[in-house]
Amino acid sequence: MPTATNTAHTHHGSEGSFFDQVNMMFDKAAVHTDFSPGLLNQIKICNSVYHMEFPLVRDNGEIEVIQAFRAEHSHHKQPTKGGIRYADAVNEDEVMALAALMTYKCAVVDVPFGGAKGGIKINRRNYSERELERITRRYTFELARKNFIGPGVDVPAPDYGTGAREMAWILDTYSSVTDNPLDALACVTGKPVGQGGVRGRTEATGRGVFYGIREACNHAEDMQALGLAPGLEGKTVVIQGLGNVGYHAANFLQEGGAVLVGLAEYEGAIYNPQGLDLEAVMTHRRQTESILDFPGAQNIPNSAAALELECDILVPAALEGQIRTDNAPRIQAKVIGEAANGPVTAAADTVLNEKGALIIPDMYLNAGGVTVSYFEWLRNLSHVRHGRMSRRFEEHSARRILQAVEMLTEKRFAADRFAKVVSDVAFGASEADLVNSGLEDTMVGAYNEIRELGKQHNTDLRTAAFVSSIKKVAASYQQMGIFP
Ligand code: NAD
Repeated sequence: MPTATNTAHTHHGSEGSFFDQVNMMFDKAAVHTDFSPGLLNQIKICNSVYHMEFPLVRDNGEIEVIQAFRAEHSHHKQPTKGGIRYADAVNEDEVMALAALMTYKCAVVDVPFGGAKGGIKINRRNYSERELERITRRYTFELARKNFIGPGVDVPAPDYGTGAREMAWILDTYSSVTDNPLDALACVTGKPVGQGGVRGRTEATGRGVFYGIREACNHAEDMQALGLAPGLEGKTVVIQGLGNVGYHAANFLQEGGAVLVGLAEYEGAIYNPQGLDLEAVMTHRRQTESILDFPGAQNIPNSAAALELECDILVPAALEGQIRTDNAPRIQAKVIGEAANGPVTAAADTVLNEKGALIIPDMYLNAGGVTVSYFEWLRNLSHVRHGRMSRRFEEHSARRILQAVEMLTEKRFAADRFAKVVSDVAFGASEADLVNSGLEDTMVGAYNEIRELGKQHNTDLRTAAFVSSIKKVAASYQQMGIFP
């Protein structure tokens, strides 16, 4: 008998609930470790879920009951961390699955948090800004009442359907009820920069997706096995979903030399094997409220069909359960970069692996968001902008080195050349420089860590990523003395 939880609204139909899918993938990896069944079970289960319903007074005076959730999957590290999603399909199973993915994601990139996720079951397009504000503030208040939010407890962030505006409402509401105003800024990440946000957070997930795909393409031997040339340059890409993650990923991939041949949104998709100019497409969409009928491109009215277009790299960046056993056999891409959470079902994952595709798994590839959220949280707790104390010092140090070179070589450089070298070399890192470099280092390092584990255990990258995180979470429990 299915439980109330997994019948609620699964995106995976007959292929099992989303949380079941995550656990199937976990089990596939767990056989490569030798932890006791008890410890593995403790890692898998979801520690706590808060399901709430509260009234919303709509602008027309009517009252509507809103359903919302917050799941904290793992308290092996605190605070727990994870986005808040506003979508029609939100349900208990979904937040549990997404919270579990957060646990594994944080472990893969060594971000010291447990996993969590929140969701409100609404389509934000059906509510006015004032209504969204009332919903967000009430949700935050409910979380605070039950101790499901706080700098050291559980720290939300943006996800599908939410952004910096919602995070600012959450901060303001939390600040008004907390008795620890000193650290209140760290109760939520993804805030506007003027409200304690960190530079680079908005585009962080998409930028991380780019770093991860670029790193995969840079391994010549792996590309050769797929029949592809090494490097990102010239690779054809199809992207599903042009929201926060998809848009920024598309932008960085295009800048990095990839060719965007297909773009899909909920209203339909467009295709041009010669390449689509992302900014021109976005302008066209703002003007006509649709990406369809873009000059020079072919319309694909059934948006899901875009996943099956011919391309080197497919980037699903919308929602879970997009590639299932029914369409997986028709996917032509050699590389699948999972920018969304759970876009490929467990059964479809097997189909794609058998076809020889390289799947760069969600729990690694979209970890850029939580990585930069971690930098934001650190900034909030330290109450100082990253780089504030060192920037000018670094700039002067570099100038002194250049002057020392002049002295030691007993050569006076031409003033214009010296000025050019100074401007190229003698600068201190800004907050954005530090955030982006920390992000790049994290994404490149983690890719190579899971790639090596995959070789060692002879597994695909997803299984390797799970092995990496299972080992790290297990070590935490063992260090706490809970499990031998
Ligand atoms: P978003 O709301 O900014 O954008 C999602 C976009 O997908 C929207 O433009 C929407 O219209 C489009 N879309 C919805 N259904 C579609 C369909 N069937 N076909 C094509 N397009 C469709 O959300 P987001 O923050 O970009 O999140 C997208 C995915 O990335 C989610 O799975 C989310 O969990 C994951 N993610 C987000 C972050 C983050 O920092 N925002 C971090 C990690 C993972």
